[in-house]
Amino acid sequence: MKTFIFDLDNTLYPESLNVFGLIDHRINRYMHEKLGIPEPEVDVLRRLYWKIYGVTLNGLMIHYNVDPEDFLEFVHDVKLHHILKPNQRLRTSLENLECHKVIFTNGSTRHAENVLSALGIDDMFEQIFDVRVAYFKPKPFPEPYLKILEILNVHGKDCVMIDDIPENLRTAKNLGMKTILIGTHNGHDFIDYCLEKACIIGEIAGSEI
Ligand SMILES: [Mg+2]
Repeated sequence: MKTFIFDLDNTLYPESLNVFGLIDHRINRYMHEKLGIPEPEVDVLRRLYWKIYGVTLNGLMIHYNVDPEDFLEFVHDVKLHHILKPNQRLRTSLENLECHKVIFTNGSTRHAENVLSALGIDDMFEQIFDVRVAYFKPKPFPEPYLKILEILNVHGKDCVMIDDIPENLRTAKNLGMKTILIGTHNGHDFIDYCLEKACIIGEIAGSEI
């Protein structure tokens, strides 16, 4: 049986709901209020850290000696239930997908649990892998992917990865996984399938993958 590895944010719900905007705001607050970084410099630093380290957290750990647990706790302290509602179509689609299902997020497990609970699908996944899985090395670096394959004791060819960020799927493809992009296909050869939204995944799974 295949293992489907699902990204969380902007994959299981649409980007247009702007959940990340809430977290984004908390990250800015953390950098300004807790670390004393002047507000005009926050965005510049974040863009730099994204480019070099993949996520803001790693830059803050290296340059500001930030405790990652403190950071994750603070930035994911957002209320989601007024934005995310139970999604029966997504639930049915996941129920019909005969495979192992896990979550792989660059956020925290607590955030993943909040999102899954708000969407009414918190019992659909066997395991949640968060940014801690490879000592805070995020997607698309290969380390967390390799760690997940090791923990699940499966090979890349036995997995299908679903994500809204093409670069995250490039690494998956390099490790032999099938890839499904949630969003618009932009011609990358490492993307096997492209879906407008996750709730129609049942329509291509099964026979094709
Ligand atoms: Mg995502």
